Amino acid sequence: MQPTASHFVNGAYVEDKNGPLIPVTFPGTGEEIARVHEATPAIVDAAIASAKAAQSAWAALMPVERGRVLRRAADLIRARNQELSELETLDTGKPIQETLVADATSAADALEYFGGLAATLTGDHIPLGGDWAYTMRIPLGVCVGIGAWNYPTQIAAWKAAPALACGNTMVFKPSEQTPLCALKLAEILIEAGAPPGVFNVIQGAGSVGKALVEDRRIAKVSLTGSAPTGKKVYAAAASQMKHVTMELGGKSPLIIFDDADVDSAVSAAINANFYSSGQICSNGTRVFVQSGIKDAFLDRLIARTSKAVIGDPRDPATNFGPMISEEQLSITCSYIEKGKAEGATLAYGGQRLGADGHFIEPAIFSDVTDDMSIAREEIFGPVLSLFDFETEEEVIKRANATDLGLSGAVFTADLTRAHRIVAAIEAGTCWINQYNLTPVEMPFGGSKASGIGRENSKAAIESYSEIKTIYVGMSPVDAAF
Ligand code: NDP
Repeated sequence: MQPTASHFVNGAYVEDKNGPLIPVTFPGTGEEIARVHEATPAIVDAAIASAKAAQSAWAALMPVERGRVLRRAADLIRARNQELSELETLDTGKPIQETLVADATSAADALEYFGGLAATLTGDHIPLGGDWAYTMRIPLGVCVGIGAWNYPTQIAAWKAAPALACGNTMVFKPSEQTPLCALKLAEILIEAGAPPGVFNVIQGAGSVGKALVEDRRIAKVSLTGSAPTGKKVYAAAASQMKHVTMELGGKSPLIIFDDADVDSAVSAAINANFYSSGQICSNGTRVFVQSGIKDAFLDRLIARTSKAVIGDPRDPATNFGPMISEEQLSITCSYIEKGKAEGATLAYGGQRLGADGHFIEPAIFSDVTDDMSIAREEIFGPVLSLFDFETEEEVIKRANATDLGLSGAVFTADLTRAHRIVAAIEAGTCWINQYNLTPVEMPFGGSKASGIGRENSKAAIESYSEIKTIYVGMSPVDAAF
């Protein structure tokens, strides 16, 4: 698993052992599987310089050629899905059952989609009665991508694909906890024909991210991370008027009415809380169930959750793996203790499992009230909070009583009500009778403190390009004097 070197700059692996060592551990056992070094100021500078040097020639290519590179990369990723999924599992601890279908494949979808869009990014002709104007859609320049640890391949590709399609270049910093996967994307883009410098990866903690954000050569920053980090990065970017995309945390509501298909709603609650061991930003961690079906729902949820196959994420039978780190596990455990201390009922699970690896059982709390810590704060672990409600008006008010607004969902057989509810939920992405599906064709992102801008879909083009307007005078110019 040891990469050739820590960083990928200007089309090749590079090392600088002066940077502090970052041990990479497999969350399933806690064993060290690789070592990388944090980027030194010299590596940060080299990465930005190479992205800057590559940008104008990349932007000047025929857009269809840029698109072809991205589509070739998508094909290479699909052909190597097994090996890339195994790496993702080692880097993150997510079950191979998940990574085979949700990570490299999602990266390939993004590269294919934006590869296809590259040649369609045109401007407008604006008639002005004799004179006229036209617009050009132009790249921003060098973009910085900063990733969280839960989806390292997907996050890198969701940022790189639209950025590169628009003619930008990128320096990407993965989370220091999952440094391996983005390096593979850099390798594959070169193999697909991307010129050196178009996509660079450098390692490091928040301080390296900060150095990138503050560099004057950077035009745009796209961060996937927590809301507190988002506020810091947004402020630093704003001080130099940089463009930003902020994909931040959530505390999203999943609202289930008593006319819903209960088994389907239970499946959604499981996916919305326990997929990737609960480490998903858009999770529906506040599950509101209408009082008529609350007991039946809870019984069914517990029966189904008790069937989770918890174990080595490399085993194809495992469907619930470890958490990323001891730190994230202990944050989750402390919320479980708070939940109990504040009066919620731990109806299922929540026990730490074994000493090796960072395993915990999925936890289900019932009797949760809106003021409890587990109801208000993002945990980013497998902790589901169940609430009951009586009326539509009541549940909308309670669902929106948070500063965060990433996602939300409703389960009901009444489609008129479903559309009314999603219209009222203050969130960037909502689902009706489904949860957490985020195909590249649809915009994804947060409202309120959950973020700014959208990833995926045509909407992402707005986040990686800007419009330049040109007025064309067709007659002699008049002046007052
Ligand atoms: P963090 O906010 O801790 O870190 C995110 C990234 O930002 C990391 O690479 C981190 O480096 C880096 N970073 C930290 N401080 C700074 C800084 N001052 N300047 C620049 N970069 C900095 O998030 P986690 O990695 O813990 O990920 C979990 C969070 O991400 C959750 O809140 C989750 O909801 C959110 N998330 C949001 C998603 C979305 O699409 N909306 C998707 C996935 C996760 P390092 O950690 O290496 O020190």
